Amino acid sequence: MGEPQVLIVGAGPTGLVLALWLSKTGTPFRLIDRKARPGEASRAMAVQARTLEFYRQLGLADEVIAAGFRMDHLHLRNESGELVTVPLGEVGKGESPYPFVLSFPQDDHERFLTDHLRAAGHTIEWNTELTGFTQNAEGVRAVLRKAGGEETWAGSYLCGCDGAHSVVRHAANIGFPGGTYDQRFYVADAEAKGNWTTHDINAHLAEKSFCLVFPVRTEGQFRFIGLVPEALGDREDIGFDDLRAGVEKVTGTQVTRVNWFATYRIHHRVADHFREGRVFLVGDAGHVHSPAGGQGMNTGIGDAVNLAWKLAAVLGGKAAASLLDSYEAERLPFARSLVATTDRVFEAIVGRGFMARMIRTVVAPYVLPFALGFQAVRRAQFRLVSQTRIAYRESPLSDGTVGGVHAGDRLPWVEGIDNFKPLESLDWQIHVYGTPTAELREFAAKMKLPIHEWPWNEATKHAGLEKDTVWLVRPDGHIGHTHQGPDLEGMRAYWERLGFAGQ
Ligand SMILES: Cc1cc2nc3c(=O)[nH]c(=O)nc-3n(C[C@H](O)[C@H](O)[C@H](O)COP(=O)(O)OP(=O)(O)OC[C@H]3O[C@@H](n4cnc5c(N)ncnc54)[C@H](O)[C@@H]3O)c2cc1C
Repeated sequence: MGEPQVLIVGAGPTGLVLALWLSKTGTPFRLIDRKARPGEASRAMAVQARTLEFYRQLGLADEVIAAGFRMDHLHLRNESGELVTVPLGEVGKGESPYPFVLSFPQDDHERFLTDHLRAAGHTIEWNTELTGFTQNAEGVRAVLRKAGGEETWAGSYLCGCDGAHSVVRHAANIGFPGGTYDQRFYVADAEAKGNWTTHDINAHLAEKSFCLVFPVRTEGQFRFIGLVPEALGDREDIGFDDLRAGVEKVTGTQVTRVNWFATYRIHHRVADHFREGRVFLVGDAGHVHSPAGGQGMNTGIGDAVNLAWKLAAVLGGKAAASLLDSYEAERLPFARSLVATTDRVFEAIVGRGFMARMIRTVVAPYVLPFALGFQAVRRAQFRLVSQTRIAYRESPLSDGTVGGVHAGDRLPWVEGIDNFKPLESLDWQIHVYGTPTAELREFAAKMKLPIHEWPWNEATKHAGLEKDTVWLVRPDGHIGHTHQGPDLEGMRAYWERLGFAGQ
């Protein structure tokens, strides 16, 4: 076998998931990272339902769930006590096989993914840094620096999973417009005695400050996130003791030991492009935003899956190279809308203006408890935060609408029949809820497309699906094409337009 045609730069969560998907499809790759080992900061803790759905496709979901823990409740408190308790445990029941938010610290998470790559027979090349690249219509040449000197890699595609300060993005000369928030944050992983239960998130609000407290790992360890008080100015040397009194007052707790403390500023930026010729930006290399809602790492993993199945199809000779155009078309609009949403939420919570005061003094204590009392509101929140709502309706890969479900939408999950099970093959597939026609069976056999069929019932109807409809489902679980009726010409044209050669 020759040199792998894909170079993945960066073994953070994004690069690791891209590598795992390519591994499962039998697509050779190289994965390099300039660090000496996996990341050691707990950073992202929330693993969203959509990520767990992808992990199930990779055969990892059960193990990840066993290694982390489910968040049970969100408590909103102010100085006079509890304002509202939001149950999180089954908040998305009926929407996803994983109707909860999982907590799994990023360092454990990266080690877990690294171990799985190793078990699949792959090596991560640590201490190996990309310093630059050139490309033309035939391929990419990348310069890699490592202990023994420099090496030139030549291949077809380069994936920049190299984080917010991406060398790939700079070398490709892709702009990264946006800004940096004025406020400075602190984050501390600490042991504390508090009036909290171990699997709950606590949001403590005060007139001028707030503190979010998440459980981390074992009992009694918590993550504290809040704003560095303006009185401390821009001092770079602050430690937890400078903040201790304020944190303990707003949370009503006693911090007994600090394991990790950092301050940071938050940026909100989206790259002008996610692709330049044969080079792709994936994860934080393409978008950074506030941690409001725990979206960053999960969005990087979503990017990785979107690109991985397309690279596997193109390099496996199953689809035209133009399939790769849909990566930017699908993921860039989502990143832009995500940054706009997290921007609004962030400004509303931490900003200094009228809106922020309104949120802290009126919306949080009075409006939110009322709104969250409605199951429909909680369900809509779940769809948004869990990323199960992400859809690519405007994508060049999306064709057709039947009832309320459009091509580009994630295939609705049907409770009770486990219609996500066949997605574990990572193949294109046809789903029919009802009875497939003989013509459809013949077409599918010719195209080597498996048909999965389930009886039509109340549950399939409730999920929004339509009886006897053809749902052509992509390897990532989104609908590519849909139609009702016996005519298969539309599906044939779709398949040919995208240059698919069957599977
Ligand atoms: C305090 C904090 C809390 C957060 N909480 C959440 C949360 O709850 N949920 C969530 O989803 N997200 C959260 N995030 C965001 C999340 O941590 C990032 O979105 C995530 O790490 C991005 O993953 P990535 O793989 O794209 O990039 P990174 O994790 O930055 O990985 C990039 C990798 O590329 C390597 N690299 C860089 N340059 C080169 C080069 N030239 N050559 C070789 N290798 C290179 C680096 O060494 C690194 O290993 C949080 C972030 C912070 C700071």
